[in-house]
Amino acid sequence: QPQLDAADRALVDGVLARQLRPLAKTITLIESRRADHQARAQAVLEALLPHTGGAMRVGISGVPGVGKSTFIEALGLHLIGQGLRVAVLAVDPSSSVSGGSILGDKTRMEGLSQNPAAFIRPSPSAGSLGGVAEKTRETLLACEAAGFDVVIVETVGVGQSETAVANMTDIFCLLQLPNAGDDLQGIKKGIVELADLIVVNKADIDAAAATRAQAQLKAALHMLRPASPNWTVPVLTLSALRHDGVERFWQTVCDYRVAMENSGEFAGKRRRQALAWMWDLIDAGLRQHFRQHPAVRGELPALSRAVERGEATPAAAALRLLRHLN
Ligand code: GDP
Repeated sequence: QPQLDAADRALVDGVLARQLRPLAKTITLIESRRADHQARAQAVLEALLPHTGGAMRVGISGVPGVGKSTFIEALGLHLIGQGLRVAVLAVDPSSSVSGGSILGDKTRMEGLSQNPAAFIRPSPSAGSLGGVAEKTRETLLACEAAGFDVVIVETVGVGQSETAVANMTDIFCLLQLPNAGDDLQGIKKGIVELADLIVVNKADIDAAAATRAQAQLKAALHMLRPASPNWTVPVLTLSALRHDGVERFWQTVCDYRVAMENSGEFAGKRRRQALAWMWDLIDAGLRQHFRQHPAVRGELPALSRAVERGEATPAAAALRLLRHLN
């Protein structure tokens, strides 16, 4: 059990008292790359851990422009209207490449960002052990300790960030445009397989097109093996702009939770996610350890060049480098 100093004890108490400043400070520690900050973040998280697990964790994805922020704003305000507190986190894969961001500019979710029952945190920037998604997982736990009833984790429809978000949430929701059915490639690309719930947004623009997309998506889903025997992935139509269908969306999320809890899958999924998370961190830690090993660092540049030039096979080079770990 790590020892908490007075400052960190105050952070823990503040978070548990549902104060947003200590929560934000805790997240800053979580996102910091400094080793001393990381150690403090782990100690704080350890103290918060018994108070986590209480939120419904909702993943939301879709291509840029599909209406994610409009939808999250509408959903968040709806939930707050029911007396719930809502945290919105983001996993932005672009931040790990360019330092820029597809998600999270300030003008998004204006009503929500000014509401005291909401907490919005943009995507961490990358570069730390395990990457952006690991930070977001820890931030999610901190938000739960701070008593948020719903934690929404948003990401964009590119790269591996969707898998990461699906692996940290209870329900993964995919937003689609009304022309989604025209592009069955996109549907087959596997991302639909992650979805527990699909939403055709912007139904107000062309209701007939949205209904057609809904039918096409349903037919496509029909050909996939269902992830759970107790859940048939619903396809809803919705207008985030007009807040039309948001209530039904949340009802469906609640139905999902009941179905998963009744079958025992809800807790099982969280247990699996926690173990997979541990292994992700072990993998990342091993990789870092490997790269920092003096003998590996000495040999890596020449061996990399040899592989690039076709003078050594990747397998032979990898084996030779890995031997240093013994
Ligand atoms: P994001 O990139 O996925 O976060 O998408 P935004 O929420 O920023 O929305 C992109 C554009 O689509 C904005 O101009 C929104 O006003 C618009 N939009 C979002 N939802 C709807 C909708 O349900 N109907 C219509 N007509 N426009 C929408």
